Amino acid sequence: MGYHDVQQVCLNGHQITDSYNSSPQFRRNFCSECGEETIHQCPACNASIPGDYHADGVVAIGFPTTVPSHCENCGKAFPWSEKKKQLAEHAERGAEIDHLKLVDQICSRFHLVARQLKSRYSDRETLAIEDEYDAQDLLHSLLHIYFDDIRPEEWTPSYAGGCSRVDFLLKQEQIIIEVKKTRKTLKAKDVGEQLIVDSKRYRSHPDCKRLLCFVYDPDGWVSNPRGLENDLNEKDNDFEIKVLIVPKGH
Ligand SMILES: [Zn+2]
Ligand SMILES: [Zn+2]
Repeated sequence: MGYHDVQQVCLNGHQITDSYNSSPQFRRNFCSECGEETIHQCPACNASIPGDYHADGVVAIGFPTTVPSHCENCGKAFPWSEKKKQLAEHAERGAEIDHLKLVDQICSRFHLVARQLKSRYSDRETLAIEDEYDAQDLLHSLLHIYFDDIRPEEWTPSYAGGCSRVDFLLKQEQIIIEVKKTRKTLKAKDVGEQLIVDSKRYRSHPDCKRLLCFVYDPDGWVSNPRGLENDLNEKDNDFEIKVLIVPKGH
């Protein structure tokens, strides 16, 4: 018959020793790798964490003892298992944010691109961003830098008086991008009102989890862009609205 020694582990899951009882000289109060506190008992039930297995009459053959994820006495997850789970969730969310960040990046540089397009060799023809359709076409082109599957979705909002508009669906990323260009008759207040109408529509869209509203404001009709962004940005469990007004500050 044999018996288990006890193992000591830091709260981040680094093993300190698996021979807590037989070799007390290896015990540590803190982890030398990360500085966390160490434990040798389950915090929930105080049962010892099983360490090296000693078999009678058998010389131990350096099999490393694994660090358990759950207590075998009470079934609770050890602190390091919870931390690992949280880290994995963070990483997952991080990957999601990246797509929106990429769109954000494109939109943030949009004005520089539009301005650069104006100066062509010996004044050749160019794409001048005069209205929403120009802005849509340029943004559509720029989206190809990062995305393969870009689907223009045409619809006619109630406020547009019969004029249709095109928004872009990134189906895989579950992001819809709508483009607005401010003008004398479309200012901050109208942008806000329109966005409320649009967001209602997209909340029920099966492929949309996030709506990015890109407001191109080259002439500075929006006097407090950051304030308007803060007012309109919205996030709950299953839907996010992000408003980006570009450029800011004139
Ligand atoms: Zn550690
Ligand atoms: Zn336990």
